Amino acid sequence: MQHYDLIIIGGGPIGLACGLEAQSAGLNYVILEKGCLVNSLYNYPANMTFFSTSDRLEIGDVPFVSNNAKPTRSEALEYYRRVAIHRKLHIKLFESVEQISRTNQENDEINYTLKTNKAEYQAQHIIIATGFYDIPYLMNVPGEDLPKVTHYYEEPHFYALQKVAVVGANNSAVDAALETWRKGAEVTMIIRQSEIGSRVKYWAKPDIENRIKEGTIKAYFNSEVAAVRQDEIDIKTPEGIVTIQNDYVIAMTGYQPNLDFLRKIGITLSNDEVLKPTYDEETQETNLPNVYLAGVICGGMNTHSLFIENSRIHAVKILQKITGKEIHQPNY
Ligand SMILES: Cc1cc2nc3c(=O)[nH]c(=O)nc-3n(C[C@H](O)[C@H](O)[C@H](O)COP(=O)(O)OP(=O)(O)OC[C@H]3O[C@@H](n4cnc5c(N)ncnc54)[C@H](O)[C@@H]3O)c2cc1C
Repeated sequence: MQHYDLIIIGGGPIGLACGLEAQSAGLNYVILEKGCLVNSLYNYPANMTFFSTSDRLEIGDVPFVSNNAKPTRSEALEYYRRVAIHRKLHIKLFESVEQISRTNQENDEINYTLKTNKAEYQAQHIIIATGFYDIPYLMNVPGEDLPKVTHYYEEPHFYALQKVAVVGANNSAVDAALETWRKGAEVTMIIRQSEIGSRVKYWAKPDIENRIKEGTIKAYFNSEVAAVRQDEIDIKTPEGIVTIQNDYVIAMTGYQPNLDFLRKIGITLSNDEVLKPTYDEETQETNLPNVYLAGVICGGMNTHSLFIENSRIHAVKILQKITGKEIHQPNY
């Protein structure tokens, strides 16, 4: 069985940032990623633009040059791939960590065994950077399992000349509604709240609000999908159930982190609805010794509080704790 000083679970931007710090510290480390490199970003909508400027998505002091101030998904994929390959990060892709257990050592040294779908490893330290993009919030309505319903929007061409319902009112929903409408879809938005979300990108918000006002995109506010059938959907509105013709449902209802995985290995969560995992804010170490959390997973169900820009620093904090040495402070 291979033994590492450090195993990093998750090859997203923050897992890679941890790998870069581990490499600088001279540790024997590996990143285990269940999908492709930066798997979550790969699965984002093809034409998405980040709300952050490219410098705020940089890791390991490697400049991120993009054509415009706000980089696109394809520029980000290019950037993180170039960083991983150029810096020769140790990564095993398409390998999912399924179980972690503490291994008793005769000399009282802390050690963990990790089981993946392919192998078993031992590690003295573990960083969990598994993100939040794996489990979509379901609408929990009849027909949600029909193939016409997706929780992962890719790109608009497919929806040309189709009747499309977009569920949600935040960035992903607004992007999907505007893009598919501009490619000739007949779009209806179903929005639980009374208005478009306040966090929607400042350039997209007036665009969607004006389309709704002029009636080219129809919106049902204070409403929810009640049922999905092959050719129509039922919408629960304040005026009662409305049935509309429908070909596809793009349910942009958000995602939640896999907190059961943390529970299963013994990391405790807060008792409120946030379910925030227990960790030391200075070192990122959890209630399990030598097991650390990094990236968006640290927020529990509060998935908007942490993102790439403000969680890159976790890598520095953790490696400082592991090595016991002061690391150069990046300027973020
Ligand atoms: C549409 C959209 C736009 C965004 N725009 C911005 C922005 O402009 N700026 C910004 O800072 N943030 C933005 N974010 C948020 C940002 O993308 C996430 O916060 C970021 O990806 C978090 O990085 P991470 O490394 O913590 O998690 P992730 O990128 O989600 O990486 C986690 C990785 O862990 C892997 N994994 C999960 N479980 C296992 C397992 N058991 N074994 C092995 N691997 C596993 C996953 O496959 C994934 O690759 C955006 C998010 C979305 C959805």
